[in-house]
Amino acid sequence: MRLILNALLSTMATSRVGRISIIGGGVGGCSAAKTISNLLGSAVEVTVYEIGRGPGGRAATRRTREFPGLHVNHGAPTAQIVTEEGRKAIEEAGGEEVKGGHGTLNSLTGEFQEKEEGGCGWLYVGEGGVMGNLAASLIEGTGANVKTKYNSMVRGLERAANGDDGSLSWILRNGAGEILGEADWLVVAGSGVAHPRWTATFGNEPPLVEAAKALGDSKLDSSLKAIASQTASPVIAVFFVLSGSEAQRWLDLPFKVAKIEGNDVLGKVMIQRTGEEGDEVAVVLHSSREFAETNKGVYGSTSSAKRVGGAKSDKGKEDELNAMMLEALAEIPRIPEVPTTCKYGPVLHRWGNAFVVGEGLRRENSLCRDAKVAFCGDYVETDAPLGSIECALLAGKQTGEAIVTEIKGGA
Ligand SMILES: Cc1cc2nc3c(=O)[nH]c(=O)nc-3n(C[C@H](O)[C@H](O)[C@H](O)COP(=O)(O)OP(=O)(O)OC[C@H]3O[C@@H](n4cnc5c(N)ncnc54)[C@H](O)[C@@H]3O)c2cc1C
Repeated sequence: MRLILNALLSTMATSRVGRISIIGGGVGGCSAAKTISNLLGSAVEVTVYEIGRGPGGRAATRRTREFPGLHVNHGAPTAQIVTEEGRKAIEEAGGEEVKGGHGTLNSLTGEFQEKEEGGCGWLYVGEGGVMGNLAASLIEGTGANVKTKYNSMVRGLERAANGDDGSLSWILRNGAGEILGEADWLVVAGSGVAHPRWTATFGNEPPLVEAAKALGDSKLDSSLKAIASQTASPVIAVFFVLSGSEAQRWLDLPFKVAKIEGNDVLGKVMIQRTGEEGDEVAVVLHSSREFAETNKGVYGSTSSAKRVGGAKSDKGKEDELNAMMLEALAEIPRIPEVPTTCKYGPVLHRWGNAFVVGEGLRRENSLCRDAKVAFCGDYVETDAPLGSIECALLAGKQTGEAIVTEIKGGA
């Protein structure tokens, strides 16, 4: 069996058997890209399209040209891993296990309660504490054979005849209707192009829903229906960077990641070492779900949704929310004062789709053979909890392997 497979792969290596376009460079999309590229090598052309300036998605790390050494994990601060398979996958992505400094902060007393070690899996961060390195190392590491197109938002999709033989391809377009790329297989890694929330942000129908109308593919329709039934809970993040003695006051606190209890505005506070020497500090605040749900329509003036997608964001409201979150922080006893001038920030970023709510897209619906569409990301059923980095990693692997099986079957 292995001999037959190897013979097939070596034949495939000399002739391309497929072009695969992955929409979304988060952990899920990058995990799928790595899986496919590892298994098929140069026999396939794998391209990742990503709105952001780099990979990572909700597990991204914010950087700024102004201060090259700064990095701020403003989305997921850590990955909670609960399966052995997830542990293997995150270590392959360069993940580093972390211990200590995680727990709950009572917002009325300022007391921190350390979470007990063990019992519910392991905590990981990206290499060097940089969460964005998880996705990056999957597609940018040695031997990776994945093309990336950053600052590229896919805004239109169609399945059209390609060449003389009448075979069908997926055409990906940008907002001006120009062709970004063509592919035999489309991987939807991050449900955005398939979910009704697209309409709330950008006005028109979600691109894959629009394309599916012309296909009449019952399996794709049923996958899209399942995705549409999922909802998401939002989080507003506010972050700033301090140096010198101001940084030290935060580093002296007993926690790195604290869930805030008893606060209507804030949900979590994170303290991260940053800067060229690692002696500066990034403080990241995550709002409560209720606060983000009440305060819609603000994405953050530096967000990709605004920058590349043209989503409208109200600057006045942004400043107001920023101030409200900082005030709520200042009211917690024992928390150092935030100076009026920070080295960087405060910056606001809205994660409209921070955590998936509902049932995961069933594994059997994550690949639509006839339409040549596959789904991966933290909204797809795996052995890990929905809406987690672990789920995105495993879903990318599972979907990548399923596509490879299809390609080999059809080669
Ligand atoms: C504030 C916050 C806190 C979190 N905390 C934790 C935590 O503690 N532990 C944990 O495990 N998880 C946590 N998560 C969840 C975790 O970050 C996600 O589950 C995981 O990163 C999802 O990866 P993904 O690849 O499925 O999706 P995403 O990371 O969302 O990737 C999808 C990508 O697709 C891109 N994209 C979307 N539409 C298009 C388009 N049309 N064209 C091009 N690109 C497009 C997006 O820009 C994005 O980069 C948190 C998330 C947030 C936001």
